[in-house]
Amino acid sequence: MTFVTPEPPMALLAELTHRCPLACPYCANPLELERSSTELDTATWKRVLSEAVSLGVLQVHFSGGEPCARRDLLDLVAHAASVGLYSNLITSGVTLDAASLERLASAGLDHVQLSFQDSEAEGGDRIGGYRGGHARKLAVSALIRAAGLPLTANFVVHRHNLARLPDMLALGEQIGASRIEIAHVQYYGWGLVNRASLMPSLAQLETANVEVDRARRELAGRITIDYVVPDYHAARPKACMGGWGRRIMNITPSGKALPCHAAETLPGFDFPSVREHSLAAIWREDTGFARFRGTAWMPEPCQSCDRREIDWGGCRCQAFALTGDAAATDPACVLSPDHAVMAAAVAAAAADPAPLVYRRIGAAVPVT
Ligand code: SF4
Ligand code: SF4
Repeated sequence: MTFVTPEPPMALLAELTHRCPLACPYCANPLELERSSTELDTATWKRVLSEAVSLGVLQVHFSGGEPCARRDLLDLVAHAASVGLYSNLITSGVTLDAASLERLASAGLDHVQLSFQDSEAEGGDRIGGYRGGHARKLAVSALIRAAGLPLTANFVVHRHNLARLPDMLALGEQIGASRIEIAHVQYYGWGLVNRASLMPSLAQLETANVEVDRARRELAGRITIDYVVPDYHAARPKACMGGWGRRIMNITPSGKALPCHAAETLPGFDFPSVREHSLAAIWREDTGFARFRGTAWMPEPCQSCDRREIDWGGCRCQAFALTGDAAATDPACVLSPDHAVMAAAVAAAAADPAPLVYRRIGAAVPVT
């Protein structure tokens, strides 16, 4: 394989742990959750953060699972600040309190992204599988602002809560978020397991699109709204992770480096560990990172398409999950020969919504 020296990644997604008090049935974590005994230690994470800066990374997103489950989170935030990384904490918030937020802010944390499962307690606690979680998040949102930290409110939307989208947007404004992220469930990992239960109808999606447009107009200049739409109703795919091996590097709790958080689902890859390799060597030389980088690997119709450097052929993990071929054109694209599988999945979900399977370590058990 010929290696072309890639531009440095912009961001590092540091999945510190897969432990989480919640059990969202659309969690982006893999079905095989990593146990705490396999997690990287503090010294290795600090080395990784320092190497990220040397490689040219600008931002670190501390994620999980629930990153606050790591006892050394404060230490890692302080280290990120000391080496000049902009740091974002992606959290469910339920274990945070005023003292811990003040310590994180003092250590140099730059931003918090707080996830909500709904606009109200009943739906939120049910989807998160955590009683009292929604009320806790409301309290924590005020503590985040009191600690002087900028706040993004993240709402994952699906069939069960899309009707409350206007309330979610209002809640984001009410709690002082500077950014609201409305993200439709992405159907990988646990989301794919629960696709039949979570998939919205086309009518729900169209109503949501109108609502987001309205809110964007009303909140312009005050609150930024990010909107992540579901691929299954789309005509063109998204540029997954900004393109394979282009913008983001993902590190799992045990130290595996991935071009995207679902890449471990692809067969035939042996992704390297940061325990044995530097970030620079992985980014520049690993054959797995190089495999779908750029456009040379693309089949038709992508190869001769004028969008090939816009969406980079879509998502490799979705292509594999739905066609069995990771190098296929993403079926989200209307030009894909496999595009019909998307409409078939939407129709199947409408005809037979399945019970939810909650994200838990060990056997996945349907919850009715
Ligand atoms: S999606 Fe839910 S279960 Fe998964 S890490 Fe986030 S809060 Fe935890
Ligand atoms: S053919 Fe390929 S590059 Fe063109 S829009 Fe579809 S997925 Fe994107």
